[in-house]
Amino acid sequence: MPLVQGFPVFSENYSSDILMDITLLGTGSSTGVPQLLCNCPVCTSSNPKNKRSRFSILFSDNGTNILVDAPFESRLQLLNAKVSHIDLFWLTHPHSDHLAGIDDLRIFAFRNQISLPFYALPEHITTVQNKFPYLFFKNEYRDQPLFQSHPITHKTVTLKNAELIPIIHNHGTMEVAGFRWKNVAFLADISAIEESELDKLKGLELLIIAHTLKHKHFKHMNGEEVVALIQKINPKKAILTHMNHHFEYNTLKASLPENIEPGYDGMTISMP
Ligand SMILES: [Zn+2]
Ligand SMILES: [Zn+2]
Ligand SMILES: [Zn+2]
Repeated sequence: MPLVQGFPVFSENYSSDILMDITLLGTGSSTGVPQLLCNCPVCTSSNPKNKRSRFSILFSDNGTNILVDAPFESRLQLLNAKVSHIDLFWLTHPHSDHLAGIDDLRIFAFRNQISLPFYALPEHITTVQNKFPYLFFKNEYRDQPLFQSHPITHKTVTLKNAELIPIIHNHGTMEVAGFRWKNVAFLADISAIEESELDKLKGLELLIIAHTLKHKHFKHMNGEEVVALIQKINPKKAILTHMNHHFEYNTLKASLPENIEPGYDGMTISMP
């Protein structure tokens, strides 16, 4: 039965023995938890599930590894998860808490002698190329760039056995790219999403979604709005991520409907 490290998630019988593993490498919002200079009960909690590095997810299916975002702690996250290769790097949006660790991914291109396929929305590719130009051009060490850029549009992205359906939503005035792969989808920092995108999320087994803060914010839905959106999408299971220090793991878990639970760093979910 597919498990979330000790948490049974699905009770259905699945026929396939090829599993997709999804690892929540980081489940914190932009400041991480504990937050610098904060002595609140969550930041000082001894429960490891209250310690959140910045947002990143690894999707691994039959040897194909898709990495979503590269935050400040990317190197440590990838070491912890023992990631041996990356086939595709997907950037949701170029805010620092999702991008600042991109330099750590150079080693995957060096070691595997490839240009790492890099997918982002067209305007975000420009932002990243301006911030990290050396990743995108040939240099004295290599005759191929470290990263090969591919714009995300509304078209399905296919690479090896991956078929990623982009789900584009709003984060204040910025657009953010999530995706659906088979019966799993994730949505990163979100303030709004159009009905046409919601139509692509029908019949999900699992939705992973940013649940950043408790209070109203123009760049983020608050906790109640995220839960309402989950109930509208109606996946069998939802897992919350990108959480700030106002969410104590056990308190939040107890407050949520049965089909929703908070994620934590290192949580691995196995899917058929
Ligand atoms: Zn963020
Ligand atoms: Zn705090
Ligand atoms: Zn953001």
